[in-house]
Amino acid sequence: MDIFQHIPKLKSLIEQSERIVILTHYNPDGDAIGSSVAWYDYLQNIGKNSQIVIPNDFPQNLKWIKGSETALIANQNMEKAEALITNADLLICNDFQSFSRIDKLEEIAKKSSATKVLVDHHIDPEIDQFDLIFSNVESSSTAELTFELITRLTPEKPVSTAASEAIYTGIMTDTGSFSYSCNHKKTFEIVAKLIDLGIDARCVHQDVYNTFSEDRMRLLGHCLTNRLTVLPEFSTAYMYLTKEDLRDFRYVPGDTEGIVNYALSIKGIKFSAFFIERESRIRISFRSKDEIDCNEFAKTFFNGGGHRNASGGNSFENIQETIQKFEKLLPEFKQKNNF
Ligand code: 5GP
Ligand code: MN
Repeated sequence: MDIFQHIPKLKSLIEQSERIVILTHYNPDGDAIGSSVAWYDYLQNIGKNSQIVIPNDFPQNLKWIKGSETALIANQNMEKAEALITNADLLICNDFQSFSRIDKLEEIAKKSSATKVLVDHHIDPEIDQFDLIFSNVESSSTAELTFELITRLTPEKPVSTAASEAIYTGIMTDTGSFSYSCNHKKTFEIVAKLIDLGIDARCVHQDVYNTFSEDRMRLLGHCLTNRLTVLPEFSTAYMYLTKEDLRDFRYVPGDTEGIVNYALSIKGIKFSAFFIERESRIRISFRSKDEIDCNEFAKTFFNGGGHRNASGGNSFENIQETIQKFEKLLPEFKQKNNF
């Protein structure tokens, strides 16, 4: 099915709407912020006001993105977030497939009478929750899909350099700097267009990846040296961090982003997990190679989901119990996925 067949519908929805809210998921990453800012900037360019609402704050290394400073951070001003979502006539829902991913905004968004448009690339969208769906699991990122949508909505209007940078940030971060989810030439064709639109790819990479704090780098060192377990018999490796670790290394949001990927750099490792002890739950990230389906694993055993090779989940047992459960599941998972 051509996912762009509903572009005229989206166009008229945007034209008719006066109160547009752009929503994205809890713990927004480069793709969530990049695609949201691209929508915001695009709408501004065609003379439409909109407001980005995010469930919680986003990492420091994305703050340079022009337009990100306008986002309303819901857990710092819940009343305003609720009023905006409740009174919106259009909600553009970016980079999540279910309202369960927007934390405390879930019920507010579900109840809002606004028309709900989904723009996303995750598996298994909750289609009943949305009125119009642009979902493509083949897209490298929601930012890539956003570029395709906005260039089709108004082909006569060039995408601004600011939106192009935001889109490039989304594509770059969701593909691990073009190392996975990017085996389609379309992704690179879009990147070529972004270069034409004035982005400096080198600067974007520099701003996102070479701006870490010393604490973050030392936290990474701690993970790799003291918190890594390698299980060669299951081609699996995992790391964990306790609340004390986070405190000792003066953790700020974003500091643990990407750490789960390091385990996959070990030769022979095909499945990795990262457990982080939070206030009331254990947050888990999974990554896998090739056909190994860690979306299914997260969904079946850890109340989560995501993509085949990158997923996340939650556990409400303590960290030791969670890790024990994980280890016990490995023989069957290995057999099922043939690795
Ligand atoms: P991360 O490990 O970076 O937090 O998440 C990896 C991927 O899995 C992301 O694309 C994210 O959207 C998805 N994901 C993370 N946590 C959850 C979750 O609790 N539920 C679902 N359905 N997807 C998740
Ligand atoms: Mn994404």
